[in-house]
Amino acid sequence: MDINTITLCGGGNAAHALIPIIRTHFQGTISLFLPYKDEAEHFQFLIREDQHIKAYTPKGVLNARPDRVSKSAAEACQDADLVIISLPAFAHEFTLSQILPFLKPNALVGTMPARSGFEYSALRLLQDHQREAIGIFGFQTLPWACRITHYAREVDILGQKASVGLAAFPHSISEELADDFTRFLGLTITPLPNMLTLSLANVGQLIHPGIMYGLFKGQEDCKYRKEDIPYFYQGVTQETARTLEHLSAEVRNVTQALQTRNPVLDLSQVISLKEWLLTTYSDSIADSSSLQSCFVTNRAYQGLRAPMKEIEDGYFLPDFQARYLTEDIPYGLVVTRAIAQLAGVQTPAIDEVITTTSRWMHKSYLERGELCGKDIQDTRIPQKYGIQDVKDIMF
Ligand code: NAD
Repeated sequence: MDINTITLCGGGNAAHALIPIIRTHFQGTISLFLPYKDEAEHFQFLIREDQHIKAYTPKGVLNARPDRVSKSAAEACQDADLVIISLPAFAHEFTLSQILPFLKPNALVGTMPARSGFEYSALRLLQDHQREAIGIFGFQTLPWACRITHYAREVDILGQKASVGLAAFPHSISEELADDFTRFLGLTITPLPNMLTLSLANVGQLIHPGIMYGLFKGQEDCKYRKEDIPYFYQGVTQETARTLEHLSAEVRNVTQALQTRNPVLDLSQVISLKEWLLTTYSDSIADSSSLQSCFVTNRAYQGLRAPMKEIEDGYFLPDFQARYLTEDIPYGLVVTRAIAQLAGVQTPAIDEVITTTSRWMHKSYLERGELCGKDIQDTRIPQKYGIQDVKDIMF
């Protein structure tokens, strides 16, 4: 593909990492669309003062800045060949609707990471804007862990994954796009067979809500001193591992039901949670004998604590507004639950985790087993976009 201009949408951790990483491998124009608060001004300052973002990686320091920064969608996007939306999932839909009117007819636009249900929302928007020639794509996960240490100045980039999956629509563009991204990011991007794989194989939707449920069900009001805050992954007990196994098995049941209906649909990459851990962290898991041991002996997960908020001097409560729930439930597990409903598959473990964690977030998605809670419109379930037949999600 002829890609001369890449536009990034977002000014958070992921965007800070993407600017220096792409700059290292791509000679064309990097444009930044930043309509949020005063973020654009911080990056415009970099350009004006001839300064750079410093990215600290295990292999050394990268220095880079975008070529152009704008609060205006037209200015930032009109010559883009490739647009990467690297934002929390709640911001995907309105960002896409802001930029779509200005994109070139054959531009490509996608999310990094996609989470679940991006395809339903994006295809509906393309239709509404009569921009069906635009290709869409999504990444299975963000390839790094990254944290801004100084806004528009410094970012830490850690834990690069060996490879990351990408799905696109139409599927015919996936392979070439994956090759392009492999060059632009300097790591292996593998094409996935369809966007349904992306939604179902979103492992964050299992791991994050599943572990939160295991750690805090029945302990919601327990206060912790800083040093006693539970380890998140190392805190996976046998019981939590059983919950995770049930969640993963239900996703597999949905996958099998879909494959029975449509044997040519390739969902071979929707693998079990344990298989995913062993594939992704083959070098850092010391004991792979059980799902629990894959979490607690994984070096990549060591030392990470559960999300907490400080309530009084030195005491903390579980943070139920953390992204592990506010993103992975409405843009993850609820979407999978909705796909299960279309496929006619029961999901008791998924229902229990959604119901309990929604209560913690003061949200309601499932009511008496129906996807009709008051907050269901703030999700990306296919039914919200008029899809009522399971065959309409098998693309
Ligand atoms: P972030 O919280 O740093 O993103 C914040 C940015 O989102 C802001 O700077 C702004 O540009 C935008 N934003 C926030 N509120 C907005 C609003 N109301 N309207 C418009 N824009 C708004 O997020 P991140 O860490 O960059 O993560 C991006 C995605 O990557 C998320 O889905 C996250 O779960 C995922 N992810 C991040 C990491 C990581 O290490 N940072 C790792 C894995 C996955």
